[in-house]
Amino acid sequence: MTHKILILPGDGIGPEIIAEARKLLDVLQRDFGLDVELREAPVGGAGYDAAGQPLPDETLALARDSDAVLLGAVGGPQYDGLPRELRPERGLLGLRAGLGLFANLRPAILYPQLAEASTLRPEVVAGLDIMIVRELTGGIYFGQPRGIRTREDGLREGFNTLVYGEDEIERIARVAFDTARRRNGRLCSVDKANVLEVSELWREVVTRVGQDYSEVALSHMYVDNAAMQLVRAPKQFDVIVTKNMFGDILSDAAAMLTGSIGMLPSASLNERGQGMYEPIHGSAPDIAGQGKANPLATLLSVAMLLRHSLGRDDLARQVEQAVGHVLDQGLRTADIAQPGKQVVGTAEMGDAVVAAL
Ligand code: NAD
Repeated sequence: MTHKILILPGDGIGPEIIAEARKLLDVLQRDFGLDVELREAPVGGAGYDAAGQPLPDETLALARDSDAVLLGAVGGPQYDGLPRELRPERGLLGLRAGLGLFANLRPAILYPQLAEASTLRPEVVAGLDIMIVRELTGGIYFGQPRGIRTREDGLREGFNTLVYGEDEIERIARVAFDTARRRNGRLCSVDKANVLEVSELWREVVTRVGQDYSEVALSHMYVDNAAMQLVRAPKQFDVIVTKNMFGDILSDAAAMLTGSIGMLPSASLNERGQGMYEPIHGSAPDIAGQGKANPLATLLSVAMLLRHSLGRDDLARQVEQAVGHVLDQGLRTADIAQPGKQVVGTAEMGDAVVAAL
């Protein structure tokens, strides 16, 4: 069966890092029997330049008709003056909403070879491998009512609503349990059940879903403690599942444990297994066009795509091993440079991974 993949290079370093992903996909097609049809479309600032919208209608239609979307990054200073609804980031929000991407998978992996890059002591983080499963389309970022209103005393107040239905909690819990089952079988659900009714329900539903997964050990943790534990002893975690806002904050904290933003991929999935895959970093306008960007987060995003949308765990592992191999060889882009290691550019790094594969 031919899988359709939509490639969205986007802005800034997006086209440079996506070019390396294309090299990888070409080799996977040529030498590894991967059967894919690749299509490409503009999004973000590039969408605005091409069609006057950060998410052109045709781009969304192509995304809906694809098994997976691979995105570079969006944004750039030349678009900062645009009205909010035309800003590049709106393209991403439109894709998430348009595809119903409710599950965000954010690994925080620290390759042992890069342990020095972390601000934490190497022994605390070397070999770190956590997966944070964040609910992405519900919770306080979307709840109604919301707004800023004027009170009777004439002062204004801002208000938002934190709301989760049982169905929303159950579907994200199932993604998290399935993920834990494929990994080391441990799931920590993070909430604030001592204060929030929404969290009380969250805990109850996650516990109920857990009865279907006897092979996964479920634990619960309050979010404030989870934040502490992440910086104290992060290797205690395997998979973490949490609601939108907590996941937003904890996944950035976990990413920084690794100290190398250019290394981390992400996946956002919907109920049909369609997914959007992208590095967690932005468009890095400060280094765009210079051939310096680290393409590894994008290549690791291809690995996640192979695993989660194409069912090719075997190929995903080989890509991840190839990345480990080039790090073993001592190759580093400037963002992860270390004394005594060879600093290479975007294309050389991509070529090295393909060669290792
Ligand atoms: P950024 O992630 O683009 O860059 C932060 C720093 O990390 C910069 O110094 C950059 O050079 C460096 N960096 C990032 N990716 C790198 C890579 N692959 N290799 C080497 N170095 C890398 O974040 P920012 O500077 O806050 O934002 C720049 C633009 O990106 C903004 O327009 C922002 O809105 C957008 N953005 C987009 C996304 C996305 O597309 N998902 C995410 C975050 C920010």
